[in-house]
This record gives sequence, C-alpha cells and structure tokens, in this order.
Amino acid sequence: MIGELVIVSLCTIFVQAVSNEYNNKRQAIIDAENKYATGGHSFLTAKESQANKILLSLKNQSISDGIINPDSYAPGMHFFHAKHLIDSSDIFKIIKAIPKGSVLHLHNVAAVSSEWIIKNLTYRPEAKLCESNGNFFFTTRISHHCPKESVKSIQQLRKENGTEESFDIWLESLINLKLRNPDLMRRSINHVWDEFEQMFSALKEMVSYKPFFEDFHKQLLKEFYEDNVLYIELRMSLSRLYDENDRTYDEFEVAKIIGKLVESFKQENSDFMGAKIIYSKHRGMDNKAAQDQLNTFANLNKDFPNLVIGFDLVGQEDINQPLSVFMDELQTSQKSTAYFFHAGETNGYGSAADLNLVDAMILNTRRIGHGYSLYKHSVLWRAIKSKGIALEVCPLSNQVLRLVDDLRNHPAVFYVSENIPIVISCDDPGFWDSKGISYDFYYAFMSIASSSAGIGFLKQIVWDSVRYSSLTTQERQQFSQTLQARWDSFMDELIAGKLIANDCV
Ligand SMILES: [Zn+2]
Repeated sequence: MIGELVIVSLCTIFVQAVSNEYNNKRQAIIDAENKYATGGHSFLTAKESQANKILLSLKNQSISDGIINPDSYAPGMHFFHAKHLIDSSDIFKIIKAIPKGSVLHLHNVAAVSSEWIIKNLTYRPEAKLCESNGNFFFTTRISHHCPKESVKSIQQLRKENGTEESFDIWLESLINLKLRNPDLMRRSINHVWDEFEQMFSALKEMVSYKPFFEDFHKQLLKEFYEDNVLYIELRMSLSRLYDENDRTYDEFEVAKIIGKLVESFKQENSDFMGAKIIYSKHRGMDNKAAQDQLNTFANLNKDFPNLVIGFDLVGQEDINQPLSVFMDELQTSQKSTAYFFHAGETNGYGSAADLNLVDAMILNTRRIGHGYSLYKHSVLWRAIKSKGIALEVCPLSNQVLRLVDDLRNHPAVFYVSENIPIVISCDDPGFWDSKGISYDFYYAFMSIASSSAGIGFLKQIVWDSVRYSSLTTQERQQFSQTLQARWDSFMDELIAGKLIANDCV
C-alpha cells in the first residue's frame, strides 16, 4: 500500500515537472515574440507600467467581447460600419488623447473633414457648383471647363433644393466616399479609385481660390493639432492659385503662402512644430513632364530648403506608370532629391505596381508610402528593415480603397511582428468620413498590434514618427522635449481615469 502511494506521488511530481517544462517553453516562445515585435523593447517607467495595466485591461475586455459578438466588434469591421462603435468606446477616448507626434503621409486636398468644407466653405457667397458631363465640381469662378451656363451659386441651389440638411448631405457626398455610396466597400478596386480621384477633381478648383486655400489649410492644421498631432509632412502639388482679381500664383508663391500659414499657426500654438512639404505630382505623365517636375522641385527646394523637402509620384499604382518608366530621370536627380515614394500600394505580387518597391529602394527612398505588398518580398523587406526605411502604414486608406476588408489581416501585422519600422498615417481622411489620425491609430492598436501590445507599442509608434521624420537635428531635439512633456501628462491623465471620465460627463 505504501509502495503504491509512493508511486502515485512520484507520478504526480513527474507530471507536474513535465507540465511546468511545457508551460515554460510555451511562455518563452510567447515572450520572445512579444519582445521582438514593435514596442517589445520599449522601456516602461513605473507610471507607464501602471497605465499599461489599465489600457491592456480595456483592450483585452474588448477582444473577449468581440469573440462572443463579432458582428459588433469594431476592430474586425469596415470603418463605414464601425465608426459609431469606435466613437463610443473607452479605448478610442484614450487613443484620441495620445500625443501622436508626427503625421508623415497626408495629401492636403483630402486632409480636411468633409463636414467642415460643406458647413463652412460652401456657405460663403463665392461658392459655386459646376456640372460637366454628369460630374460636379466645386468652384468660385467661371472657366473654360465650367462655362457660365453650367455654374450655379451654391447658396441659390441650397434654397431651391429640398431641405438644407438633405441638400448638404448630397453636397457632402461629392467629397465623402461613405456618403457617396456605402456599397463602394463591395466594389472593385478600380471602381473605388475612379470615385476617389473624382473627389480630388471635384474639390481642387475651389480650394485653389486663395482666400479658401488659406482657410482650408488653417483648418487642416487645426484639425490635426486638435487631434494631438504636432508636426506634419504634407504631400501637395503646389498647383497654381487664383484670387478675387483673377491674379494667379505660381508654385513658388504658393510655397511662400503655405510657409506663412504654418509660421502663423506656430505663433498661435507654441508647441506645434510645423509642417513641411513633399512635392507630389500624379504619376500619369510622360518623361519630359517628369523631368520638368524634378527641375521645379530642385528650384523649390533651393528657395525653401526647410519647407519643400522631398519628391513623390502619386495616383493609383496598379493602372498608372511604374517608377521604372521614369528610371533615367529619377536616377539623374537621385543625389540631390529626397524621395518619399508611394510603392507597393497593391494586392499584386510581381506586378509593376508591386515592383515599385524594388525601384523605390534602389532610388534610395527615405520612407515608403504604404509598402502594402512588401511582405511578399523576402529579400527586399529584410533590406528595407536593415536600411531603416520606414513604411508609412495607412490602415483606413487600405481598407476603404479595397486592399483589405478586415484590418486584422493587414500586412502591417507582419511588419509589427518583425519590428520593421513603420509610422501610422492617414493618407486622405476627409474623403472617407474620418478626421485627423485617431481612427488609424485605433485600428493600428486594436487590429494590427498583438492583443498583448499596450503602452510599449504606442510609445514606439509615437517616437518613431519623430525618428523617421525629416526634421533637422535641432528641431528633433526640441520636438522630443515637447513630446515628452505631452506624453507625461497623457500618462497622468490615463492613470487618474480622467480620459474616460471626462468624455462620459
Ligand atoms: Zn498617399
């Protein structure tokens, strides 16, 4: 009997030992992966560790609820359906309060909320609407493509067409994909891009009117500053402006106007670090035009060395010319031009758009816009990681423009797991019912990062947005100090429960 008891006890000890060994191995793998991923090595202060517990508790509760109720789990849903759920979540209230550092991928024409444009610019007496071949364009003047008979005052149209509210919703649908047609989330990529590019055409003329241009860009800075963004690198074409006397302003004058606006905004908001411009032109041009644009950039950069800092080509990569078409021109200017190329914004593998990634790296791009298809390239992603070229990941853009439905399947999940440098950006928030960058941060935190990623992840994302920016060393030092102070107050508020309580009142 005693012998049997001894055998049973020994068996129990043996089973426990085996079980402990198994659990240790299991935990070691999980820990190693978490440490390797983005933010895994972030040092957390005592306050940050405390904040981390609060945040992870909320995050894991939300994830558990989502497993039971996937139909109302925002991180797994399309933004058009999820926005109201995100707005009411505690995590989003915290995300909004994060000092975000920099936004490094943003197109000016689509950066301002569509609601502000409709409720503000279109209520001004100069605002007009032009109809041409079934398409509508906002403008303030009669021109060759908007002759007198096709141009109408928006104030007048508002009086003539139903209720003000319904008219304004229709008007907003001209520059907001969700209002335009929520079924777009099921249409083909080319169809959505057609509608998306039509919106740039619809808005461009009206925001080229100098008084509107100035107020539009002030609002742009305001919306991002209110979303706790302290520095922006703005992709813009610096296209000509016109004023009430029909005087036109060329690229150099437009750069000067933007420079003044930014300086004035900095004066009013002492911790705002400013904005710089990545001169961006549509890739649908010939080689001669590309050379002309590179020459214009060189002159702009000479006149405004700390404002117009880089060059990019924009437009849908799948159907437009790849970088390789402009190889001669781009190589010639490579030494004197900082490139920030959009590349690999595609579902292709080996297609011309996908291979833009190869050209972007050879051309020494400083960062990569999207890099969505990079994970398919075993040699290239390792090279890009070792060179420290950050990917500008824009979650909502990739979802709305039909590369991915469920953002938990976004390739950035792989980039985070491999600690490939990324910055979170928002591309064109005004055109898809978003505002600022908080919604993209929400999806990055809830859908792209691991369920165990908390403050450490956010800390790295925020500081990497400074690290991979084009700020000078001196600006960077000043920015880091400002950001640190903001970050410390954010920690205090999070720990004190103020971020959730305030919004609940
Ligand atoms: Zn873009």
